[in-house]
Amino acid sequence: MRSGRSRRWPLHPPPAPGEALSSWLARLAAPYDLSVRELLDHNLGPASTPAATVEQDAVDWDPPPEILEALAERTGTETAELRLMTVAGWVPWLADTLDPDQAPDAFHIYTRQDSVLLRRGEAGTNTVGRWLPWLPVDREPRRAPPRVCPVCATDPARGVALTAGLLLMLSCPDHGCLLEPEGSVRIGLVLGEPTPARPAPEPVAAVDRLTWEGLTTGTVTLPARPVHLGVWLRLLRTLIDEVSISTSRLRAASAPPPRASWTKSGRPAAARRAAASRYGARTNNCAITSKTRCPPPPPPRSAWPRPERSPPVARSGRSWPLPSIGPSTTATLRSRPQPHATTSGGN
Ligand SMILES: [Zn+2]
Repeated sequence: MRSGRSRRWPLHPPPAPGEALSSWLARLAAPYDLSVRELLDHNLGPASTPAATVEQDAVDWDPPPEILEALAERTGTETAELRLMTVAGWVPWLADTLDPDQAPDAFHIYTRQDSVLLRRGEAGTNTVGRWLPWLPVDREPRRAPPRVCPVCATDPARGVALTAGLLLMLSCPDHGCLLEPEGSVRIGLVLGEPTPARPAPEPVAAVDRLTWEGLTTGTVTLPARPVHLGVWLRLLRTLIDEVSISTSRLRAASAPPPRASWTKSGRPAAARRAAASRYGARTNNCAITSKTRCPPPPPPRSAWPRPERSPPVARSGRSWPLPSIGPSTTATLRSRPQPHATTSGGN
């Protein structure tokens, strides 16, 4: 049996910070003039068997561990880092579960165990259908249509961030511009008509910078104290839920803050409903059935591990705050690869 070293592919650009596995696979395959499908099906040794069962557009979800181990062998990238390039790698920080059928318990545990604008428990309980935080459940794969930074997209070495397919961020934490539909951005680049970078409203940019800090360090620095990434994501989702609840269902004293947030935004009620729908809020599909039902006990946060991802600067000399939707990275090949086809030599 060959050693792990002998399995190493000669050309293997390292993942960009925050990059999605699918994006990295495309950048791995490109120097060999292979498609991602060919890379998975014929170049991972025994792991190609399970890899062949994974739809290409689903590799970012929860790929079999054999695939990640084979990629680690062939690229020298740690398996734990590869895991964090998938949605499953971010459980339990991003979500308590990836099973949408566990709603409504998952909804209440994630969204209603805390409160931001309302009194604790005032949001009541909802009858919730299939649901996941930050992820659509009505389409396969369960990823939102990707949105990317038009500035970052001009550098192919950045790849596409895992967050591009999550309903989590609206702006690039580096350039401060709004994320745009990836298809439009790519077409614009091909046609030589780059998509203009639209500045994000400062409140949006500020929240996204905090979210990105959490995704890259595991901690979000708030004015009073730092909080765990898992707490931050739940508070964000709680806030979205609270401003999406009809104020007619709230106590008179509680209604003004959610109402004021929409008034300040200058958006009409239709925009409020659209925003609620975009983030999976169930205001139109759920009915408050009881204000006295006790939600299930929350998971013990003290038991949450910290994300295993640590700043790459400590491990590989790369500078860290470099999301694929962020600033330029030095994590590129030292020399430009010369494409040449190979279908089995790297096995
Ligand atoms: Zn950017």
